[in-house]
Amino acid sequence: MKLYNTLTRKIEDFRSIEEGKVKIYTCGPTVYHYAHIGNMRNYIGHDILVRTLEYLGYEVTRAMNITDVGHLTSDSDSGEDKMMKAARRENKTAMEIAKFYTEEFFKDYDKLNLKRPDILKPATGEIDMYIKMITKLLSDGYAYESGGNVYFDVSKVKDYYQLTNHVQDEMVVGARESVEEDSNKRNQADFALWFTTSKFEHQELQWDSPWGKGYPGWHIECSGISIKYLGEYLDIHGGGVDNIFPHHTNEIAQSESYLGHKWCNYWFHNEHLLDSSGKMSKSNGAILTVSVLEEEGYDPLAFRFMCLGSHYRKQILFNFDILNQAEQTLKKLRNKVSSIKDSGDLDDGSFTEYNNKFIEALSDDLNTANALSVMYELLKDDQVNGHTKIDLLNKFDKVFALNLFTTKQVAENEEEILELIEKRNEAKKNKDYELADSIRNELLEKGIELLDTREGTTYKIINS
Ligand code: AMP
Ligand code: ZN
Repeated sequence: MKLYNTLTRKIEDFRSIEEGKVKIYTCGPTVYHYAHIGNMRNYIGHDILVRTLEYLGYEVTRAMNITDVGHLTSDSDSGEDKMMKAARRENKTAMEIAKFYTEEFFKDYDKLNLKRPDILKPATGEIDMYIKMITKLLSDGYAYESGGNVYFDVSKVKDYYQLTNHVQDEMVVGARESVEEDSNKRNQADFALWFTTSKFEHQELQWDSPWGKGYPGWHIECSGISIKYLGEYLDIHGGGVDNIFPHHTNEIAQSESYLGHKWCNYWFHNEHLLDSSGKMSKSNGAILTVSVLEEEGYDPLAFRFMCLGSHYRKQILFNFDILNQAEQTLKKLRNKVSSIKDSGDLDDGSFTEYNNKFIEALSDDLNTANALSVMYELLKDDQVNGHTKIDLLNKFDKVFALNLFTTKQVAENEEEILELIEKRNEAKKNKDYELADSIRNELLEKGIELLDTREGTTYKIINS
């Protein structure tokens, strides 16, 4: 598979560290507010990456954090903790805020058919790991205490700006622009690992540390969680393009200084979803979420479909015309898929031909738009029989996750159907074809057609 690597600014052949296995870290949400559809675009990008790697046969282990402390209103250590600001806004405790918005996040996440990470850790649960890392960074001379805080000294690393296109001066100015200068820092680009001198009064989340009661900086959370749960060597780490600097730049500096070797091979970044005012953001007034779209009558998967129509490294300017169009196209697509008659035997030749084309598109730096074109080409191809088409579409939907086979009507008696499918599978295993057929016919009489595919048996509602 070819994948663009922000670290080298090249499309590279992807090679995992351990054969057949991939370790991925995704930067998780800061749970001080609802996640907007821009945030969700980033997680759709990661979902396609994971599903593609699995399609190619890799065993993927993915970790993600929940940022529930330490992310200040400016990414460069100034302002107040976003969680505290939210607690004040809503008259709740920071932990109540975190719980509520984490749950809301996953409601929307699930609506988009996003695979849950294997390891999910709130930042507040891993304080010991950050303390362990910071202690070593201090004793190895990469960090220093100043004014009560602990800072990472960026002048101690060889290539601090390696991820940011090496435009050192621009980046420093960029960091300064939004930041009031912190006189505790030796270099303005230095970043906080641990805060004790809170600039605001009621910092509720504080832990004992060798440097006094305080709380971790945002960047150390992701390094700590990644190293603790995925080990010292990581295949892919990603987020949105706004994470490249300072967040990922700082993660590399502290992780590699701590470990004493290269940490992560591929850096994966998703472009933004824009609205008419620019980058969609949580602080820009009303927040457009997946649930809001659903309340307005949209199928959340229409948004997923819309994102798959673009490349993950291209910006998308969101508007309702594009979403309406995506929804209509998705409806037509599902109707087309459900009208396919399950006829003929599996044609291995066509199966392999289309499956290879699909893999080729996705292996080209996750070109989902081309993968969709392969699917449309298949739908139009009269030479391919219904059974083979259904098998292929089922397989493609392992990556697209667009519920191609549900015409939105999940059968009311789905549980009963699934039980019967199970019973029929048992019967087939026992070579009791009579029973298997009678179950199929029983369901058919009730308007449920069973579809046997390589991925297992699914059902389709007919005559409705
Ligand atoms: P946050 O919850 O603010 O920490 O952001 C969660 C993720 O969403 C981060 O990886 C960001 O890079 C990403 N993100 C934020 N805004 C957008 C946007 N408008 N479009 C795409 N991704 C975004
Ligand atoms: Zn992160």
